[in-house]
Amino acid sequence: MSDKISRRNFLKVVAGSGVLGFGVMATGCKGKPSGGEGWVSGQYEGKGDFPVNLKGRVAISKLNPSIERDDEKCILCGQCVDACKNVMGVYGNFPLPLKQEVACVHCGQCVMQCPSGAITEKSHVQKVLDAIDDDTKHVVVQTAPATKVSLGEEFGMPQGTSIGKKMVGALKAAGFDSVFDTCFAADLTIMEEAAEFVHRLTEKKDEIPHLTSCCPGWVKYCEYFYPELMHNLSTCKSPQNMLGATIKSFYANKVGIDPANIVNVSIMPCTAKKFEIAREELQVDDQRDMDFVLTTRELAVLLKKKGINLNNVPDEEYDSVLGESTGAGRIFGATGGVTEAAVRTAYYFATGTNPPADLLSWTPVRGMKAVKEATASIPGVGSVNIAVCHGLENARKLLDGVKANGSKWQFIEFMACPGGCIGGGGQPKAMDAIGAKQKRIEAIYKEDVVSEKRCSHDNGEIQFVYKNFFGKPLSEKAEKYLHTTFVDRHSRLFD
Ligand code: SF4
Ligand code: SF4
Repeated sequence: MSDKISRRNFLKVVAGSGVLGFGVMATGCKGKPSGGEGWVSGQYEGKGDFPVNLKGRVAISKLNPSIERDDEKCILCGQCVDACKNVMGVYGNFPLPLKQEVACVHCGQCVMQCPSGAITEKSHVQKVLDAIDDDTKHVVVQTAPATKVSLGEEFGMPQGTSIGKKMVGALKAAGFDSVFDTCFAADLTIMEEAAEFVHRLTEKKDEIPHLTSCCPGWVKYCEYFYPELMHNLSTCKSPQNMLGATIKSFYANKVGIDPANIVNVSIMPCTAKKFEIAREELQVDDQRDMDFVLTTRELAVLLKKKGINLNNVPDEEYDSVLGESTGAGRIFGATGGVTEAAVRTAYYFATGTNPPADLLSWTPVRGMKAVKEATASIPGVGSVNIAVCHGLENARKLLDGVKANGSKWQFIEFMACPGGCIGGGGQPKAMDAIGAKQKRIEAIYKEDVVSEKRCSHDNGEIQFVYKNFFGKPLSEKAEKYLHTTFVDRHSRLFD
């Protein structure tokens, strides 16, 4: 043995020789090692079960609203570190010791990579079951596009099976009072965001490039690492929260229910949505937009607790008037989908006519390439250069380039998770993760092609809600309920 010994080798020797056991006895600790819970030797005191590749793990605050870890299950394999650092560009990108808070954008990619199931989402299942059982509450649920092509996997269906209407049937059987569609809200988001983008292009050029804001993991990343670009973020709330605010205002008024008695639940592919609903900014008239988020996996748990097998429930329709959606709203679940949907309606806003066929199947923004680039030619506006980026480490590289050299794009879509929402941290886990993402994406684009309406502005229920409540995109009322602000979080990590 050399004079110098690494900590890892020292611990191996200690564990292998039983010296630790002697040490514990000698200090009178009766088997409880010093160093506190989670200390290496406390977890691996047994001979022979020392990890071969001891790589550490990400820190998770007890206050994290999205994820938690069961220390007893952690094998210190370091796969969460790999995901957080190499895919999400978070770990390793802030100084230590930590300054004010444990850095996390709540994406849940560490959950997807953790081989022992030590990291999980913070469950809202029991809270939702309690709300359903509370007769004084009117419990409303909404379903995100990516969950409609993945929930079936939890019930043994092939990857990429579209089960939207079955999910509605299952949610009604589970006791939810109304079932609405986040795809409707995606259409609503596009109405606001396309109007905002055209306005920025023509009158507020200092807010170009326009950065999308529907991914809460990406938004928090921007707030941590690129606060100087926060004024470029679209002020649109995410579809989840747009629908939440619409339910507690327009819908509550329509059905005559006190919004204080409405419980808004969403079914999301995403763990960051649990963080998002807790944001201070996301409440109107003293009502939180949203109350609970169930990931796709949690919904499967809830349905199984209720004895509901998705394979055996009948198809049912979404409730009206917040249940209609177009193909544009459905493709939000895939990387590039928000861009494609926004361009369809921006074209309409600028020209008064629907976009040509090539913009209805805009392949340059589709697929799994890290950064996709495309140019849309919109009469009256000109050529619009666009980038689509997924995975936050990719975002870091792209934005460092923008900071150094300026932006060659007028519109940039960011999604935290690889593949977009279909690859979210709340989705079913698959041995063949890449294949599963591919099949979910194919299913989403198939739904778009067979949709009777492909553009958000053609959604009849969207037109109804504007006519009877919001007035028009970017109206005072729309700004109040559908738009938000952001928080500079840079100083929580950096001096
Ligand atoms: S949720 Fe995302 S940002 Fe947070 S620790 Fe896990 S991988 Fe890192
Ligand atoms: S991936 Fe899971 S098991 Fe591995 S170190 Fe991280 S928390 Fe522990």
